Amino acid sequence: MDLNRTFEDRSPEELLLWAREMFEDRLAALSSMQRTGSVICHMLQSIPVKMHVLFVDTGVLFEESLATRDRIIAEYGLEVRTLSPQKTMLQQTAELGVLYLSPEGQKQCCELRKSAPLDAVKEEYDALIGSLRRADGGQRGACPILAVDPRLNVLRINPLVNFTDEQLDEYTREQDVITNPLHNQGYTTIGCNRCTTPVMPGEPRRAGRWRHLGPWSVYCGINPTDLDPEQSPSIDLPQDLVDRILGRSTDYMI
Ligand code: SF4
Repeated sequence: MDLNRTFEDRSPEELLLWAREMFEDRLAALSSMQRTGSVICHMLQSIPVKMHVLFVDTGVLFEESLATRDRIIAEYGLEVRTLSPQKTMLQQTAELGVLYLSPEGQKQCCELRKSAPLDAVKEEYDALIGSLRRADGGQRGACPILAVDPRLNVLRINPLVNFTDEQLDEYTREQDVITNPLHNQGYTTIGCNRCTTPVMPGEPRRAGRWRHLGPWSVYCGINPTDLDPEQSPSIDLPQDLVDRILGRSTDYMI
């Protein structure tokens, strides 16, 4: 995607403004209330750029993540839309057993509790803002700014891909960003309470995710760029929107 090359030098704030200009109300940010998601939320309120923030509450999140969401709503004034799975974890376990204890079960559980709630609202959006960074390494080391998400039929936009660890620290400190307190307790990344542990010094950043399943389970699939790419992934957006994105019917310059 040629736009990706054009966007490499753009600041996260410029990319957020471009996204709002292009997608208007059919745009939302996706946050799990980890530090990078909080930085995006802070930028949305400080620029400001208006959009929903989608938060998938799997029903087994840490209290600290829910409290961070509540603070973001109260202090940043953002409209956070909480999405939930159809069944509680209690109902799911009664029907299917404790899924997250095996690699196959984990995929099914993440599918039911993380991906399905997003499927349920996908018709409402053409683009989603994420907070992936290349500095996180692993599969994210080559994450593009713009990526297609065939499952949700949206464009994924990651304005923070070029944010270094130092920039993230600096922005968080200088702007006094609301951050999930678990980051100060050894949790480098934060997901469900069943599948997330703190990380010891020297361990990879994502070592605390699905630790009980071994080193092969480090991504849940909610971000398509974390997975091995399909041959030619594509999405189907309205033609006038595609024209606008490609600059064929607008003089918006970035
Ligand atoms: S992270 Fe664990 S508990 Fe959460 S949805 Fe995935 S498998 Fe289930």
